[in-house]
Amino acid sequence: MTRKIFWEEPYLAEIETIITGVKDNEVTVDRTIFYALSGGQESDHGSINGHRVIRARKDNKEIIYTVEDGHDLQPGDRVQMTIDWERRYRLMRLHFAAEVVLELVSQMLKGIEKIGAHIAQDKARIDFKWEENISKIFPGLEEEARKVIQANQKIESSFSDVAAEQRYWKVKGFACVPCGGTHLKRTGEIGSLALKRKNTGKGKERIEIYVNDKGGKMDYFQMTAPCGLDCFNCPMYLAKENDKLRAIISRKQGIPIEQASCEGCRNESGKIAFMGMTEPCNVYKCTEKKGIKFCGECTDFPCDHLHPYADKASAVPHNTKVFNLCLIRKMGLESWAKDKAKSVKDTYFKKEWKL
Ligand SMILES: [Zn+2]
Repeated sequence: MTRKIFWEEPYLAEIETIITGVKDNEVTVDRTIFYALSGGQESDHGSINGHRVIRARKDNKEIIYTVEDGHDLQPGDRVQMTIDWERRYRLMRLHFAAEVVLELVSQMLKGIEKIGAHIAQDKARIDFKWEENISKIFPGLEEEARKVIQANQKIESSFSDVAAEQRYWKVKGFACVPCGGTHLKRTGEIGSLALKRKNTGKGKERIEIYVNDKGGKMDYFQMTAPCGLDCFNCPMYLAKENDKLRAIISRKQGIPIEQASCEGCRNESGKIAFMGMTEPCNVYKCTEKKGIKFCGECTDFPCDHLHPYADKASAVPHNTKVFNLCLIRKMGLESWAKDKAKSVKDTYFKKEWKL
């Protein structure tokens, strides 16, 4: 049976695995990041050693991948498995947007019954048995959903029963729901959401859910570390989509090319893998404990946690942290991110910037 890495590590887009079975064009693997349609969430797109996977289906606890004709895969082969990350991340955001909407609808309309759900790359939908026009609750529903998203709460995902592969997600103070899909780490990653109503037959109401491509305002939050370092201008983050940059970083830092990029502090839960960190930095741990979004909000600000990780203040613009935190407080996150963050970073060693 394949080990389902997409549960433990839903943010992995590539892994090495071993072919465990081949029958014509159908293969099984030792461990997988490639989700197969279930619970309404569509399958991933991707490839195994460059051979495009045209279908992924569940067979009890096994997942069977159908690859294109003309493959040369053999049992025992060590292979590279890759998924279309852009698609997967949209599926995860839409999936969780649907989770939030479903939970809120159930809280607002007592006794309502869900009769179906589907998560695709462009939109999600949930079908209900309900006699009235469901759009009546949209204003309140949208507002409540926005609150959950803006609170950017941690989403816990784990097994309720390992042997039976039963999983759940949980957001403190909001809900705990059984689900075997792939889930985001934080509610803020959903971004901004829009709802549409469709009547699909007598007594049947459908809610369609859309999320913004850029994730709207939340992206800047997600992409700014609690210490005030901006990930969205950081070469390590930009290397995610820039192979040349990645090669340069790999060479300069002497690290393997697959490690020469970063998802951003909050997406990595405060652990920056390329720096060899196995646990979150003190700033991250402290802000988590205190339940604050940025150090600048803290009554102890600025404290010793903000010192450079190792003293590299003369070589890396580490102390932009303190400037940034003050600027975020003064200008607001959005204006700082759009108008200031880049110039602070670019001019740190070269010239003055206007405060
Ligand atoms: Zn789910």
